[in-house]
Amino acid sequence: MKPSLARYFLIAFLAALTLIASAGLMLYRATQDAERHSRERAPIYAPQLLANQIVESTRQWTRGTKAIAQSPLTLRILKSTDAAERRELMGTLTSLQPELGEIQLITSDQAKGQTPIPSALGAQQKRMIEKARAASHPGSNQGAALRAESLSLALSEPVRDTDGGIAGFVLVERNLSEIGAIFAATPLIDGYAELQQVNGVSDTLLKRGNEQLKFSSSPIAIMLEGTPWRLMMWHKPAVTGLAADLRRSYLGVGSVLTVLLALCMWLAYRLGNRMLQDDLTLFTKLFSDVTHERLRKRYPVELRELQNGYQVMYQLAKMMVNKHQRVVNSAGIDHLSQVSNRRSFEAKQHEVFARVNEGWAHSLLILDIDNFKHVNDSYGHDAGDQLIVQFGKILKDHLRSSDFVARLGGDEFCVLFPNTPLKKAEELAQRLRANMPSRLELQPNVMHHLSWSGGLSEYSRQDQSENAALARADQALLEAKRAGRSRTDVKAA
Ligand code: GH3
Ligand code: MG
Repeated sequence: MKPSLARYFLIAFLAALTLIASAGLMLYRATQDAERHSRERAPIYAPQLLANQIVESTRQWTRGTKAIAQSPLTLRILKSTDAAERRELMGTLTSLQPELGEIQLITSDQAKGQTPIPSALGAQQKRMIEKARAASHPGSNQGAALRAESLSLALSEPVRDTDGGIAGFVLVERNLSEIGAIFAATPLIDGYAELQQVNGVSDTLLKRGNEQLKFSSSPIAIMLEGTPWRLMMWHKPAVTGLAADLRRSYLGVGSVLTVLLALCMWLAYRLGNRMLQDDLTLFTKLFSDVTHERLRKRYPVELRELQNGYQVMYQLAKMMVNKHQRVVNSAGIDHLSQVSNRRSFEAKQHEVFARVNEGWAHSLLILDIDNFKHVNDSYGHDAGDQLIVQFGKILKDHLRSSDFVARLGGDEFCVLFPNTPLKKAEELAQRLRANMPSRLELQPNVMHHLSWSGGLSEYSRQDQSENAALARADQALLEAKRAGRSRTDVKAA
């Protein structure tokens, strides 16, 4: 099947379409991935947010407890001996930090004995509070200030006397339902979170999410500063890594596709362009051949699109050339060399031979180009044609207008010197050889050294046939060739 430009364009178009579609698909998938990626990133920030909220709440309560301990009202209550006054002042004190809930005051005398807690306190203070609490709840077993199962936090703060001594302690025990609410409200996607208490062994106080993740991924641990707790968070493993891998592979495939497409387009362009140029060159050759009144058997046009046009043009060209050749032949001109053809030579010879008996001398020179085949073989038939054309023109230019120049066929020419005896014809032949250019340019940059051999004879009244002189000249030519070429031999009648 003949190659077709349309097919190349179609292939290039389809390739471009494929690339655009793939790029669109990849962009769509990458956008989806990016969205999922950002959704999946949410839990990474969630634990820190939650931790901050819990720590901040705890700080508020610590600050509140400190404020109560520093209030002059607290010292007054501890010093007071009137129970009614103490109750009244206690009511006022509670209203100062309502969010702390129940506040207890223990005098330093009461706080002697065993140990209470807040982990944030120094060992000495802890011991004192413990004692204070044991004393304030005789018979109770609430030794620990922080209790895992109840998610409560006990805070204590010493109350300073005016002389700097410890007058007593403020005790606040809170059930931290707010922390439970914060924990429950924090967004958690594809994750699992625990609030743990760290006191030797870790007790889980709160948990949320898909517990399975605890066994399939490693956790993020955040210590909650100022509290005895730790926040642990597990995530679906390697999701973000996967997204990054996908993006990388999209990018890779996209780049390879782009390079391939560019390569295909470039190849299609080069191929199409070359074929078009080759075909146009053939068309130019066809036109040029028509102007030289000759045609080759075939002009191998490659592209299907140009086939029909070529067929029509070739038929027209053939008709034109044939018609022209018929006209030229009938006019007696050789179509290539534009000197007389063999038919008109024969007519001329007939006329000359008829006048031999009248006493006029006529001579005849046959010329054959040396090694003409070599030109055809080395530079092509066109160059050979050029040599024939130029040789015919040189003969006409260098001979007298009365001399009759004809091409007998191939690379063989003939000059009839009417009313010229052999001696004179020999002179003319010598002058012709001397004056001729020795080098011809057959094609751009193709120079050829011109050389020819000649056979000279004369028409004689003894001759039986009008071709006898031609035969003698031919014999002389053969001898000149045999003797080494580039010379003219003479054979008289
Ligand atoms: P030599 O010196 O013995 O003459 O050798 P040569 O190579 O010239 O041989 P010869 O004269 O026998 O060759 C003539 C060749 O010319 C044979 C033929 O292929 C070629 N020829 C004949 N007519 C044409 C023509 O119209 N154009 C071209 N280009 N070549 C032609
Ligand atoms: Mg020859």
